[in-house]
Amino acid sequence: MGIIRKTKAVTTVLQIFEQKKEAQSVVHLIELVKDKMNKTTVYRILDRLEADGIIHSFNGKDGLKWYAKCNGCSAEHHTDKHPHFQCTECDKVECLSVEIKIPSIKNHEVASTDILLTGRCEVCSV
Ligand SMILES: [Zn+2]
Ligand SMILES: [Zn+2]
Ligand SMILES: [Zn+2]
Repeated sequence: MGIIRKTKAVTTVLQIFEQKKEAQSVVHLIELVKDKMNKTTVYRILDRLEADGIIHSFNGKDGLKWYAKCNGCSAEHHTDKHPHFQCTECDKVECLSVEIKIPSIKNHEVASTDILLTGRCEVCSV
């Protein structure tokens, strides 16, 4: 894996995550940088950043892939076991800093969880 080379393209993608706290969908990310790099490059960078413990991915509504910044993860170990919230009105996705108790299942080893809560965000629910 190793530390990611800070190419211009990598920096551009990283900046998006530094600037906005919200999660970004793959489709949106590609759209944001479409003048600077092609789709394949975006996918490759996202893969590398995830492998390096910088961002994490999860599935949103309609099976769309989303990415958000990690907090204290490393290349060896992702610790993002938090659920995500997707607003059904504005489609905004947030990482929720709440802990979800994962049930232990007999003879099964749980490696990851993908919990998506949907509803209205604080802006849309007023
Ligand atoms: Zn992570
Ligand atoms: Zn909303
Ligand atoms: Zn998250």
